[in-house]
Amino acid sequence: MTVSVVSGGTRGIGRALSLRLAALGHEVIALYRGDGESAEQTEKAGEGRITALRCDLTRPEEIHTVCARITADYGAPAVLVNNAGVNRDGPFLSMTAEDWDTVLATNLSGPFHLSRALAPAMVEAGGACIVNIASTTAIRPRSNGANYCAGKAGLIQLTKCLALELAPHVRVNALLPGFTDTEEVTERYGLDDPERLATVLGTIPARRLGTTNDMADALEYLVTTRSGYLTGQQLVVDGGHFMG
Ligand code: NDP
Repeated sequence: MTVSVVSGGTRGIGRALSLRLAALGHEVIALYRGDGESAEQTEKAGEGRITALRCDLTRPEEIHTVCARITADYGAPAVLVNNAGVNRDGPFLSMTAEDWDTVLATNLSGPFHLSRALAPAMVEAGGACIVNIASTTAIRPRSNGANYCAGKAGLIQLTKCLALELAPHVRVNALLPGFTDTEEVTERYGLDDPERLATVLGTIPARRLGTTNDMADALEYLVTTRSGYLTGQQLVVDGGHFMG
């Protein structure tokens, strides 16, 4: 049995990642914070291969309890995807400490605690991989996202440090999505408005938003032996929006 853990695995990009891993034959544990309806729908779509477990990534003790349960019930995961993330966008001059803390706790400390809890078993089992879902805004700043960009930049450096320390047992890579068509992004950028959407698409050489399936394709590459010699890297999947 190949076991995968996906944080934020029942909504948006994470849901597509859970479903792809399930289609590859993995037993998937999809962690979610509170959206029980999405959790139920994802389990159903996984046709018996996806189990949703509630776990708030801003609560380290909860993470450790859930991870102990996972390793006891399923053994060492072969794949951990640190996907869960939040945005609390706003100008830096009015950004509150709470905006900062919530984003850093979820987007950077969450992956630390989850990796720290599961990596010992993964190292022991060997042949495992961690994929951290960062963002192109980890390497290119944007306005109103000091907390988000800093957290995602930290996640890239965490990726490289873990790639060094967990080698050769666990490969650790970062996937950097560009604009990807999820409810969260549509709402935050007002992409329901055709004019706004056209403006955004005008900046993307591929002339379309990324799909959650595009991200699942990239994940599939990162977790299979086809990328067996790849670790500590950042894979940008953004239709050419940002060419580093
Ligand atoms: P969504 O808002 O659709 O999904 C976010 C997921 O994270 C949800 O499943 C949510 O769980 C989970 N989550 C949020 N806070 C917590 C928490 N405290 N504890 C546990 N889980 C939590 O986002 P997307 O699918 O759009 O994004 C997924 C990842 O990709 C994020 O890391 C995001 O930063 C990154 N990304 C997305 C881009 C895009 O354009 N969509 C671009 C670049 C990066 P629940 O549903 O239970 O609330």
